Amino acid sequence: AEGVETVRVAMMADKARRRIIAIGSGKGGVGKSTLTANLAAALHKMGRKVGLVDADIYGPSQPMLMSTGGAKPQAKDEQLLPVISPLGIPMLSMGHLVEPGKALAWRGPMAGNAFGQLVDADWGDTEILLLDLPPGTGDVQLSMLQKHKPDGAIIVSTPQDLALIDAQRAANLFDSGKVPIIGLVENMAGYACPHCGEVSDPFGRGGVEAAAEGTGIPFLGRIPLALAIRAASDAGEPPAAGDAPEGEAFTAIARQLAE
Ligand code: ADP
Repeated sequence: AEGVETVRVAMMADKARRRIIAIGSGKGGVGKSTLTANLAAALHKMGRKVGLVDADIYGPSQPMLMSTGGAKPQAKDEQLLPVISPLGIPMLSMGHLVEPGKALAWRGPMAGNAFGQLVDADWGDTEILLLDLPPGTGDVQLSMLQKHKPDGAIIVSTPQDLALIDAQRAANLFDSGKVPIIGLVENMAGYACPHCGEVSDPFGRGGVEAAAEGTGIPFLGRIPLALAIRAASDAGEPPAAGDAPEGEAFTAIARQLAE
C-alpha cells in the first residue's frame, strides 16, 4: 500500500506542476488548430514535455494535423491514455472518440463530460498541456471555466475587424473566468506571392497588434499566410517540428511559453 501511496503522491505532484494553456478564437477558420499543433511541435523540439488536447467538438482536426487519425485511445481504470503522435507528442482528440467524419452534435453536459475525460486523462509527466478549444464561447468553454480552469489562454485572430470583434468576445470570456490572457497571435498576415515574391496583406495587417495594445493584452507574434503552412498541415507534418523557415514564427511564440 505504501508503494501505491508513493505513486499517487508522485502523480499529484506531476499534476500540480502541469501548466494548462488554452488556445481559443472568436470564430473558426482563423488557424487556432494550426497554431496549437505547431506550438506543441516547437515546445517538444525544445525538449519540453508537452501534451495536446483537441477539444474542438465541432471539427476536431488535430488527428489530421498530428498524423494520429484512426488511433484509438486505450483506457486504464476508466482513465484515458493519450495516444502518441509520430513526433512523440502525447495527445487526445474528440476525433479519437468518434468515428472519423461523423459530425458531433454534443451539447451541454455531454460536451462537458467528453472534455473532462480528455483533460483528466493520464498525462503522466506532461509539463505543459495545450488545449485546442472549439471556436467561440460555447459549452466546452463553460465546462472548462467551471471544472478545468486553465493557467492561461492564448487568443488567435486574423487581422480583419470582424475577426477582431469576435476575438474580443473570447477575451471577455477568459476575463470573466479569471483566466489570465497570455497574449494575442495574429495569423494569416502578409502573403508572399510564390511567383513574384511581392508581399500583400489579403486580410490586412497589424490589426491584432493594435487591438492588443488598445486592451493591454500582450502581443505574442504574427504568423504569415503561407502555402507551405497549409500544405504541411494537410500532410500532418507541423512545420515547427522541422527546420523549414515556415516554422520560425511558431517557434518564436513557443519560446515565450517555454519560460
Ligand atoms: P481553426 O482551428 O481556427 O478553425 P485551422 O487551424 O483549422 O483553423 O485553419 C484553417 C485552414 O487555414 C486550414 O486549412 C489551415 O491549413 C489553413 N491555415 C491556417 N493558418 C495558416 C497560415 N498561416 N497559412 C496558410 N494556411 C493557414
